Amino acid sequence: MATIGFIGLGNMGAPMAANLVKAQHHVTGFDLVATATAALAERGGHAASSAIEAAASGDVVITMLPAGPQVRAVYLGPDGIIARARTGALLIDCSTIDVETARLVAAEARKAGLEMLDAPVSGGVIGADAGTLTFMVGGEASAFARAEPLLNAMGRTIVHAGPSGSGQTAKICNNMILAASMIAVCEGFALAEKLGLPAQTLFDICSKSTSQCWAMTGYCPVPGPVPAAPSNRGYAAGFTAANMLKDLRLAQQAAGATAAVTPLGAAAANFYQLYVDGGGGALDFSGIMQFIRRPQTGK
Ligand code: NAD
Repeated sequence: MATIGFIGLGNMGAPMAANLVKAQHHVTGFDLVATATAALAERGGHAASSAIEAAASGDVVITMLPAGPQVRAVYLGPDGIIARARTGALLIDCSTIDVETARLVAAEARKAGLEMLDAPVSGGVIGADAGTLTFMVGGEASAFARAEPLLNAMGRTIVHAGPSGSGQTAKICNNMILAASMIAVCEGFALAEKLGLPAQTLFDICSKSTSQCWAMTGYCPVPGPVPAAPSNRGYAAGFTAANMLKDLRLAQQAAGATAAVTPLGAAAANFYQLYVDGGGGALDFSGIMQFIRRPQTGK
């Protein structure tokens, strides 16, 4: 049994922390949203009154925060995790953030004698609930070996991608591919709708044909074919369109810095920008289906 401080108990962090509790670990959590912290206690974990209290309670500290600025704020400075963690604690950031922040925070941890991993995930809230996430991990092999048994309690596929920042690199590439494939799936279903072909019929055919992909068979953007998908509950997130836009911007930033050619990634970023500007930011990213059906209103 490990003692774990878990900071950031949102859509993803809450089920991930709950799976660690289920695996018999001692988990003390904190979220800025008091009800999220209380919910962990109701599921068998322990509630802390601050991020530092949660961090100082664990031999392992896991964070699942929105983006780079929150990760810097929580880890750095005199009241940050790095300054206040237990001696020898292992730090694991599972948030999706920019590669630069991941490398910087890991370097600061190293200076303080702490091992740190960037370990972003794929699989969405469905995977977080089921404990079937994919973890893509950047950092030292020794830290990876320490983390692997814990990550196994939350995921099914755990890959050591390379040195610090490698996990984030894999993640932004994954999400750029996902956004482009989600938009393509939406376009196919919207065209079928116009031509009078029922969504279920298209799904039955395409899910067994060459256009098969996770955006369709794991997370179908039209209600019906995949009952667990957010499309069946009014596109309640799930993975918000705002977070997808954040990841697409990270990918475009990285593509610009390395002169990589990503025209579909750029188009996907523009689409999500329009959807978010139209008020879709808090909805699931598969809600872009509404925008593709009716670009004027996005509803
Ligand atoms: P979320 O917004 O639901 O959760 C983030 C949580 O962090 C919130 O509850 C927020 O209150 C909390 N928080 C922010 N600042 C904090 C602080 N200083 N101290 C304590 N808590 C703080 O987001 P999410 O969907 O859980 O995503 C978290 C990360 O995982 C993001 O980087 C996202 O891109 C990534 N991700 C999400 C999904 C998904 O399907 N939702 C999938 C893969 C990766």
